[in-house]
Amino acid sequence: MVYLDEYELAGSNFYWNRLDTYDLTRNELIAIGIENDRVMVHEDIITPLIEADKKFRNAGYRIYIKDGFRSKELYELIYKKRVNKFGKEATDKLLNMSLMPHSTGRSVDVSLIDIRTGKEPSLRNGKDGIDAVFVDFYKNKKDETSIDYQNLQELLINTMENHGFRLGSLREYFHFDYRPETDKNY
Ligand SMILES: [Zn+2]
Repeated sequence: MVYLDEYELAGSNFYWNRLDTYDLTRNELIAIGIENDRVMVHEDIITPLIEADKKFRNAGYRIYIKDGFRSKELYELIYKKRVNKFGKEATDKLLNMSLMPHSTGRSVDVSLIDIRTGKEPSLRNGKDGIDAVFVDFYKNKKDETSIDYQNLQELLINTMENHGFRLGSLREYFHFDYRPETDKNY
């Protein structure tokens, strides 16, 4: 595993920054080896991420990695915390405990940064709830905001797919596994 920031890729450590949301403490994370806001990934995906970042820049964005490598210990810890807080059904929709894809270091949760503003554009509305984290939630909606969300999600998905990344089995619009040997699956 390598740190993303050593390759000038932008990102942050998802759970390190959301202690309150998931009732985590810094010490619980430190006990399983997470000691800072940095993101680790498998070195095999650095080059495809850099290439994807170049494409996003052409469109006025940069890639922003919201989560990369997650140890099995971290999966177990956040599963327990999420079930306590949000219930088993909601947790099982979002956390793949049978495959634990992030434990390979070849999976990433991805967002964008708008180069002009330096901010993350919205790719969905939080008020739309859990259903909006899955692909094509906004696809046939006609209002301007939904069209913007859908266009940005498609930019994200198509660019990642062109660099060997595939959607995960849960089909969240932001989660990608590096599997260039398999067909595109959007
Ligand atoms: Zn993910």
